[in-house]
Amino acid sequence: MLYSFYPSVNSGYSMLYSKLFGKTIKESPKDESSVNARLLIQAGFIRKEVAGVYNFLPLGLRVLNKISNIIRDEMDNTGAQELLLVSFQNKANWEKTGRWDSFDALFKVKSRYDFEYALGPTHEEVLVPLVKNFANSYRDLPLKLYQIQNKFRDEARSKAGLLRGREFLMKDLYSFHQSEKDLVDYYELMKKVYKKTFSRLGLNAIETLASGGTFSKFSHEFQVICGNGEDEIIYCPSGDFSQNSEITKVKEGKECDLGHGPLKKVKTIEVGNIFPLKDKFSKAFGLTFKDKSGKEKYVVMGCYGIGISRTMGAIAEVHNDKKGIVWPKSVAPYQVHLIHLGGVHPRFAKASPGESATSEVYDKLVKTGVEVLYDDREDVSAGEKFADADLIGIPVRLVISDKVSGGQVEWKKRDEDKTEIISVDQAIKRLG
Ligand code: ATP
Ligand code: MG
Repeated sequence: MLYSFYPSVNSGYSMLYSKLFGKTIKESPKDESSVNARLLIQAGFIRKEVAGVYNFLPLGLRVLNKISNIIRDEMDNTGAQELLLVSFQNKANWEKTGRWDSFDALFKVKSRYDFEYALGPTHEEVLVPLVKNFANSYRDLPLKLYQIQNKFRDEARSKAGLLRGREFLMKDLYSFHQSEKDLVDYYELMKKVYKKTFSRLGLNAIETLASGGTFSKFSHEFQVICGNGEDEIIYCPSGDFSQNSEITKVKEGKECDLGHGPLKKVKTIEVGNIFPLKDKFSKAFGLTFKDKSGKEKYVVMGCYGIGISRTMGAIAEVHNDKKGIVWPKSVAPYQVHLIHLGGVHPRFAKASPGESATSEVYDKLVKTGVEVLYDDREDVSAGEKFADADLIGIPVRLVISDKVSGGQVEWKKRDEDKTEIISVDQAIKRLG
C-alpha cells in the first residue's frame, strides 16, 4: 500500500505536492499589475521571463493543455486537420503581401549571415504558398488546416500578464474554399463552434462585429466581459447585437432594435477573432484552382484565431475570489486537491487510522483515474494547506485527518463554503 505512492508520482494524472515543480508563494508579485499574472504567479502556474514573456510551470502547462485539447476537439469536429508550421518565416513572402512594412507588431530577426526573417505573428504568408503545392483542383477543396503554436508580436504594452504577450500560444485555423458561399457556410459554422468552445472553457464569449485590420474589411471577435479587459464593446445584454466600440458608430444607451432596452458599453477581453479573408492572400500568392468546368479561379479563404494563453489569463481574470483562482472543471489542472492533515505522513511512520485512510483514498482516486494533486507535506499547518488549495483553485478539495476515518473524506467545492463528510466511493461518484 505504502509503496503505491511512488509509481503514481509521475503518472500524468496525479501528483504529490511535495514533488511538484513550482510552488505557491506567500506574497503576490510586486512587479505585476494584472490580476491574472499576480494570481497565476503566486499560485505556481507561470513565471515571468521578461515583460510579456512567461514560462509555464507544470501546473500551468496542464491548464494550457486542457484548453488546447478542448479547442482541438472542436476544430477536428469541423473536419480540420492539425499541422505545425514554422516560426522563422520567409521575408520575401511578407513583402509579397505588403505586410513586411504594414504589420506593426512584426518581429524582424536578422541572421548574422545575410538573411532576415519574420518571426511568426500569424501564418497566411507560410500556409498559402504551402497549400499552393497541394490544392489546385476543386476536388482538393474545401480544405481546413490549423495549428497550435507560439506566436510572436512586438506589442507596445505588455503589462496585462497572459492577456498581452510578446510570445503567446495561439490556435490559428485557415480554411480554403471554391466559392464565397462555401466560405460563408463554414464561417457561420465557426461562429457557433467558437461560442461552444468558449462555453466548454467556462467563458461566455460575445460574438462582436469588428474591423479586420491587415486581414480583411471586417471580422468577428469573441469578447469576454471583464473590467480589466483592454477592449470595449457596445452590446445588447439579450444577445442580438455587439460591436467593438473602435468601429462602431452606435452609441451606448441607444434602444436595441429588437426592443430589449438600452445598449450597454463594457470592457472586454478579445479571446478569439475570425476573418473572411476572401481572395486577399490567394491573389498575393496566385493560389488558384480549376473548377468543374476547367476554369481557373482564386481560392476563397477564411482564418480563425483563438489566443490560448490569453484565454487562460481571461479565465483567471473572470473566475477568482479574494482567496485565489476558481478554475472551471474542464480546465482545472487537477480534479481533486487532496489534503492530508495531522502529523507525519504514513510513508514514514506507523499509520494512525486517519493516515492510513489518506493513502487508501489517494490510491483509490488514482486507480479510478481521478486527477489528484495530493498535499502530502508534513511540516505545514492545516491553515496553510487550505490557503494554498484556495489559491491554486482546483474545483474539489478532499481532506483526510484523524477526525475523518473509516474510508470517509471531507468534501468541499472551491466555489462553496459548505463541507460534508462522505465516503470515498460517494466522492468518486460525484466526480464522475
Ligand atoms: P489585439 O487587438 O488584442 O492586439 P489582435 O486583434 O491583434 O489582438 P488577432 O490577430 O486577432 O489579434 O489574433 C487572434 C487571437 O490571438 C486574438 O483574438 C487573441 O485572443 C490572441 N492574441 C493576439 N495578440 C495577443 C497577444 N499579444 N497576447 C496574447 N494573445 C494574443
Ligand atoms: Mg483580433
